[in-house]
Amino acid sequence: MDKKKIAVVTGANKGLGFETCRQLKELGMHVILTGREESKIKKAADLLNKRDSDVSWAVLDVKDTASISQFAEKVQNTWGRIDVLVNNAGISINSRFDEPSVRLTIDTNFFGPLRVTDALLPFMQKGAIVVMVSSIMGQLSCLSNDLRRRFESPNLTRDELIGLMRDFVRSVGDGTYAGKGWPSSAYSVSKAGLNMLTRILSKELSSKGIIINSVHPGWVRTDMGGQSAPLDIKTGAKSIVWAATLLANGPTGGFFHQGKPMQL
Ligand code: NAP
Repeated sequence: MDKKKIAVVTGANKGLGFETCRQLKELGMHVILTGREESKIKKAADLLNKRDSDVSWAVLDVKDTASISQFAEKVQNTWGRIDVLVNNAGISINSRFDEPSVRLTIDTNFFGPLRVTDALLPFMQKGAIVVMVSSIMGQLSCLSNDLRRRFESPNLTRDELIGLMRDFVRSVGDGTYAGKGWPSSAYSVSKAGLNMLTRILSKELSSKGIIINSVHPGWVRTDMGGQSAPLDIKTGAKSIVWAATLLANGPTGGFFHQGKPMQL
């Protein structure tokens, strides 16, 4: 492998993930597109792979620990290191709000990035960058004052945050979520958790010189954002690419939109 930076993007077969790969490739990185379906991710990589070995692809389902382990093994055997990790894969289920759909959303949008980051950190060195693709929907104003205080406590630990996310899923199951101050949006809670996870991981990673930020891409015309969204995919992906190309002395642990800090 040459000296190009190596970037891994999850959920890269379409939407913001695919466009982020295109832009990172334009900037001279070797991009590894990952997605949960082999046929889709291979097709997406072929679209970018106009010249030989410019991009690679791999199967990676962020919900599936076996899939993550297989990918980590492939990284070790094929590329050896990762300079940029973009945790982009995400879902938003608007058609229902029940325990199974909430569990799936939290598992994909919160636990997915946590599992993938933990598994790939051994391949990341000083100066490496992690980007969490989050959303303005995850601002803490979606929570009750009490929950908000617990989320934003500077002393919140990884285990406490995981406990809060599990409590949300359980409380939807037994119908107590509203009384406890949770909103009826699994997507909002998943992204609020992701932003807090970013802050916690930034403390864990600062001694290794790895920077991590979460990003709101804007409301973007993708399958998830819908056709009424004001931003095109190119513009939306720029927020992600900004965070993926920060210098080693850049900010860490923050939440940004178009390079500007956002209210948590
Ligand atoms: P999208 O077009 O629906 O793409 C979502 C991507 O995530 C797809 O590639 C999808 O793969 C993948 N994915 C879902 N579950 C996965 C799993 N378990 N493992 C691996 N990949 C999985 O949505 P998008 O708008 O590009 O969204 C990308 C990110 O931006 C998401 O995190 C989203 O929350 C965030 N975001 C989007 C907007 C917006 O307005 N679009 C606004 C704020 C934040 P499949 O094709 O296989 O389903």
